[in-house]
Amino acid sequence: MTAIPDIMLSNGQNIPQFGFGVFQIKPEDTVAAVSTALQVGYRHIDTAEMYGNEKEVGEAISQSGLDRADVFVTSKLSNDAHEPDGARRAFDESLKALGFDYLDLFLIHWPLPTRYDGDFVSTWKTVEEFYREGRARSIGVSNFQPRHLRRLHAESDIPPAVNQIEVYPYLTQDELRGFCAEHQIAIEAWSPLGQGSVLDDPTIDSIARRVGKTPAQVVLRWHIERGDIIFPKSVTPERIRENIDIFDFELSGEDVEAISALNRDERTGPDPDKFDGR
Ligand code: NAD
Repeated sequence: MTAIPDIMLSNGQNIPQFGFGVFQIKPEDTVAAVSTALQVGYRHIDTAEMYGNEKEVGEAISQSGLDRADVFVTSKLSNDAHEPDGARRAFDESLKALGFDYLDLFLIHWPLPTRYDGDFVSTWKTVEEFYREGRARSIGVSNFQPRHLRRLHAESDIPPAVNQIEVYPYLTQDELRGFCAEHQIAIEAWSPLGQGSVLDDPTIDSIARRVGKTPAQVVLRWHIERGDIIFPKSVTPERIRENIDIFDFELSGEDVEAISALNRDERTGPDPDKFDGR
C-alpha cells in the first residue's frame, strides 16, 4: 500500500485525505472498529457529539499506543448546542469524552437556518474562540450551502477550512464543490459510498471488473481522484481493510467522468436549507 496523501488546508494544517467515519457505529462496537482501522493504517477518525461514541473513539486511540499527534481527529457540534454558552459547554464535553486537550478539526454539524433565528454566525464566532485558544487546530462547517458560507465570509474573521457535505456518485455536488474550491474551503465527502447504495450500479461494477478492484474501492478512488477528503464507515474488519486498499491503483480520466455522469442530484440525507436538526 502506498501512503495516504495529505491535503493542506487553507490555514496550513495537513489532513489525511482518507480516514474512518463512525456514524451509526454503536458505542459498544466502536472500540473494536476504530482499533481495527488504526491497526490497518487509518490515521484520521471522523466522529461527532451526536454519534454518541466520542468516548469509545478516544479509548481506541489511547489503547492503540499511537501518539495523539499521529491521529487526526474531527468532532462536530451538537445541533442542540448552537447558542454560544451551549457551544462552549458542548466543545468542553467533546474533549472530555475523547480524553483529549485538543481536536484536529471541529465542525458546526448543520447550519440549521430555520432555528436559532438563523444565527449560525454567532455559533461560528464561538467556534473561532476554540481555534484562537489552540483547542481546535482547524475549524470548519458541515452541510453549509453557498449562501451560508457567504454570510460567514462577510460577518466573521476566520474562514472555514472545510465544508463536510454529502457527495457520492448520484450526488456529485459540482456547483457547491466549485464554490468551495474558489474560496479555499476543502471538501469532505460524507457518505462517500451513499451508505452502500451505489455498489450495484452497472457502470461502477463494470469499471471494477476491468480494473480488478471492488465497486466500493472504485467509488472511494473516484473521490480521491476528485480531490475530496473521505472517511467511509464499516464495522466489518474485511471491509475496513478493503476500503483503505485504494492507493495502489488509479482511475483514468474517462472512468472518473463516467462515474461523475451518474449524478442524479439525489440526496440520501436531509436538505440543509430545511433541516432543523431535530
Ligand atoms: P458510507 O457511505 O461510508 O457507507 C457506509 C455503509 O456502506 C456501511 O454501513 C456498509 O453498509 C457499506 N459498506 C462500507 N464499506 C463497504 C464495502 N467495502 N463493501 C460493501 N459495502 C460497504 O456512509 P456513512 O457512514 O453515512 O458516511 C461515512 C461517514 O461520513 C460517517 O461515518 C460520518 O463520519 C460522516 N457523515 C457525516 C454526516 C454529516 O452530516 N456531516 C452525515 C453522514 C455521515
